[in-house]
This record gives sequence, structure tokens and C-alpha cells, in this order.
Amino acid sequence: MKNKPIYVTQPYLPPLDEFIPHLTQIWDNKVLTNGGPYHQELEKALCEYLGVKHIALFSNGTLALITALQALRVTGEVITTPYSFVATAHSLLWNGNRPVFVDVEPGSLNLDPAKIEAAITPQTTAIMPVHCYGNPCDVHAIQRVADNYNLKVIYDAAHAFGVRDDHGSVLNYGDLSVLSFHATKVFNTFEGGAIVCPDAKTKQRIDHLKNFGFVDETTVVAPGINGKMSEINAAFGLLQLKHLDHIMRRRAEIAEIYRQELHDVPNIVCLGDTGQIVANNSYFPILVESDYPMSRDALYAQLKEYGVNARRYFYPLITDFPMYRSLPSAAQSNLPVATKAALKVLCLPIYPALTDEDVFRVVSVLKRGA
Ligand SMILES: *Cc1c(COP(=O)(O)O)cnc(C)c1O
Repeated sequence: MKNKPIYVTQPYLPPLDEFIPHLTQIWDNKVLTNGGPYHQELEKALCEYLGVKHIALFSNGTLALITALQALRVTGEVITTPYSFVATAHSLLWNGNRPVFVDVEPGSLNLDPAKIEAAITPQTTAIMPVHCYGNPCDVHAIQRVADNYNLKVIYDAAHAFGVRDDHGSVLNYGDLSVLSFHATKVFNTFEGGAIVCPDAKTKQRIDHLKNFGFVDETTVVAPGINGKMSEINAAFGLLQLKHLDHIMRRRAEIAEIYRQELHDVPNIVCLGDTGQIVANNSYFPILVESDYPMSRDALYAQLKEYGVNARRYFYPLITDFPMYRSLPSAAQSNLPVATKAALKVLCLPIYPALTDEDVFRVVSVLKRGA
């Protein structure tokens, strides 16, 4: 079948002529970075759009994760999930922390709050859960454990842009939440990221940390990093924000077709909602159960033959990578749910430019296999 390839995701790019005036303005201003007007405007616009108090923009999500750990002075051991993109755990190593991996819940594939307590030691200072695929963690249960043991909670919310539950944005839970605006994410600034924080004082510390620790021209208060978002990225973000309703609507439509069409395909399970009021449909994960006539990897290869590039997010687990696998908490016996999920999961294509016809092409391969 000769068809144009379908990718797992594709960045949304607004019409180029809408971006030109912003470039002209940057050329006129000659302010390229260092918290310029676009940077300030995007921070304000995102606070409003997301329903959060403060936001600090970054050049990418990974630097934002590391800076979040620095901002809260996190030391020692940090409890986290093996079922995520590798940057989650890498940020802990870059901050000199020891990751302690705890298994996920079978329904959401998010960190299992019931298993956190057993992993806490006198060295534990924080928890770093991930709202995997944009499905909110059991935030209240996680907070109860954190409060009992006086631990910080930093959410890797790279997938959770715009997600809301009945209290509002899920980015308001925990001490800090970290977003990624990488090209592959729901909202992108080519590269980019942000820390969401509840109070002005923390926001100020984060702003210092992302600018080498400078407070003014001659005062440096911390060994900061350069994590600033440039004016070009910020201007693009502002433009992208204008198109977000369309982006979100189209993602929801595609997810709805998948759900309807795959509902009665035996041994294909669509991952369920976890109580969000507004989902962002940033991914469309399915589990290929063992009774499906083909293995997950055979189905992955079959899809590829038909020009459909699905992805095995998250396989391998973070704990399978060489810098983690010798940690005691990385043992497969400690992580049975995550281990099984990594062998079953497949993320199907979902992005605004995907047509209904494309979606049905993906569905037909899955149905043919069954
Ligand atoms: C994308 C992603 C990151 C990293 O973000 P970058 O902006 O690419 O640095 C971190 N954690 C998760 C879960 C991600 O999906």
C-alpha cells in the first residue's frame, strides 16, 4: 500500500505569514532574549490560559526539571516512576539525587501512591511523579504521603498542558509542576519548557536560577544555569496559543474516532481517563494484550509496513538504561506493572493534521490483525 507516511505526532505550525510580523518586531527591537517583551507576554498569557498563578519559561523542559529540583534544594533520594521519558530520571542524576523507582498503577500507568511509603528512607526528600500521557496522577493520595513524611512533590507535567480536573488546572498540585514545549508536545515553542509555581517568592528564585543566579548587574546569589527562553521561541508560543482551541478540538475528535472504532476490537485496550474534566489527548496509548493474534512488536512492524509510525512509549523502561539498571529499585521484580505495560503499549498517531481517512487507515490495520 503506497500511502503517505503517518507519524505518531507532527508539530502544528500556524500559517507562516502570521509569524512574519513578530519576526519584524524582534528585528526592530533588537531584544533577542533575557526576559524581553515576548517572554513577559507569553508568561502572562500562559498563566491565564492554563489557570495557574506563576510560570517561569525555560529553553527546554529538562533544564526546567533540573532547575525545579535546585529551586527546592532537593537532596538525597527522590521517588519517581520508571514509566516515563528518560529525562525525568536524568534530571535527578544531574541534580545529584539518587532516583528510587516505584511501580505504577495498572489503570493509569502513573506512580502508584500505595507503593510510595515502602520506598521512603531517611534520605528521601521528594517525589517526582509524571502525569503520564496527560492523565492526572492520584494527586491527593500522593500529597497525603508527602505531607506525612514532609516530602516535596515536583510533577513532571510535560504531557499535561491544559489538563484540568474539578479543581482546575492539574498543574496547581504539588510544590512545582514542569512543562515541556518541545516540538512533539501538544503546545510547542520549537524547544521550550516552564515551571509552574504557586508563589511569587519561588518564581523569583527560579528566575534567578535560570539566569546564572543574577539578581542585578553585579549580584549573583546562586550557581544558576542559562535556561532562558529566547524571544523567537516566546513569540512563536504566543502565536501557537491563538491556534490552541483548534489543536485541542481536532485531537479530541481523533481520540473519539479511535475510542469508537477500537471499542470492540478484541485484546486492544485503550487506556482510560483518570478523572480529568479537560483532557489534552496528547497521546493515544493502547495496550496490545497477549491474546491479540500478533505480538505488540509484530503489530508495530505491521503498522510500519502500511506507513503508520506508531511508537512504543514507554519502552524500554527508564530502569532498563545502563545508568539506572543496577539500582536496587530498578529490579523488574520491584516493578511488575510497569514491566508488563512496557511490553504491551503502543502510542497511535494523533495530531491536528491527521485526517479522518488517516485515522481509519490506522484502525483498519489494527482490525485486520485481530
Ligand atoms: C518531553 C519530556 C521531557 C523533556 O522535555 P524537553 O523539553 O524535551 O527537554 C521530560 N519528561 C517527559 C515525561 C517528557 O515527555
